Amino acid sequence: MNNNNYSDAIALLEEADTIAVFMHVNPDPDCIGSAIALVTYLKNKGKKAYVFTPDIKTVSMIPERVKFLPNVSWLNKCDRKEFDLSVAVDLGETGRIGDLALPLFYKGEKSLVIDHHETYVDFADVTIREENASSASQIIYKIMCEYDRSAINKDVASLLYAGIVTDCGNFTFESTSEETFIIASELLAFGVDFSDISRRLTKFIDYNVYRLKIRVLNETRFFMDNKLAVIVFRKKDFLDTGTKEKDTDGIINEVQNITSVLLAISISECGTDRFKVSFRSKGGVSARACAEAFGGGGHYNASGCRLSGKFEDVFDNLIAVAKNKLQYV
Ligand code: 5GP
Ligand code: MN
Repeated sequence: MNNNNYSDAIALLEEADTIAVFMHVNPDPDCIGSAIALVTYLKNKGKKAYVFTPDIKTVSMIPERVKFLPNVSWLNKCDRKEFDLSVAVDLGETGRIGDLALPLFYKGEKSLVIDHHETYVDFADVTIREENASSASQIIYKIMCEYDRSAINKDVASLLYAGIVTDCGNFTFESTSEETFIIASELLAFGVDFSDISRRLTKFIDYNVYRLKIRVLNETRFFMDNKLAVIVFRKKDFLDTGTKEKDTDGIINEVQNITSVLLAISISECGTDRFKVSFRSKGGVSARACAEAFGGGGHYNASGCRLSGKFEDVFDNLIAVAKNKLQYV
């Protein structure tokens, strides 16, 4: 297994008594799993550890299907205003921490980032970034092993497994490596109920989300000989089905799974004239390049950005860039 130099990160964790952990906006199971796993582990180490959502107040950004995971109730349970150490997981830019969480992140005397994204601007005292890692959870497991493996328990392992299995698409995405399988099997030894976690996070779907999904997929628009597919979530779709923007997570994969589709785009209305955009790609097309064209970023095959403007303009601009990226494939 690839052993990176984690000593600087471990020294920061070891020296700190009070530690705050932060996640990215629209947190996915990898981000949530790694953050809560780290806090659980640090508490097992006798530290005072806290974990915050990007708005530091509510859990409204946390998808319902994730709430069965251990220690989700610890989110935002903290009155402390200063910390020895702030840790950000699964993000590479301060803009991803969230406007409300960022000032609190800066209240850490020292800072640490653990990330696996290809789009980043370094901002912390110590950064562990492994762009080839399938998930942030995979990196965090390796750091925990090097620091003190005895502080990993079933809860920590379950949270990390949740992050790994979702971010590697049930071990199907190209980011899945031999190391991913090795770590997953080591986590099972802690008694992780892998079947339950995997099915709840990657297969099960709430009734309302199912209704949202079939409604939106039914209106999928195709371009360029079905190489490009676009789905759109408007406010009315959420209202009519009793769902929220966070419920869109994963639906884009259905479009991406169409054999001919090399680039899938999902546009979600998340405010007045504001849109959250996701890109998924395969076949040598860079989703990251598309997102970066709009100031966003992510991974080669999975990325995102936020756009403001009238829907028709946002849509046209996205299609123009997408067509440009696809013209030679
Ligand atoms: P999703 O489409 O599932 O929200 O995100 C896919 C990937 O792109 C994730 O790794 C996520 O962190 C990243 N991503 C999504 N939106 C943004 C964004 O606005 N900026 C950056 N830099 N990355 C993003
Ligand atoms: Mn993430």
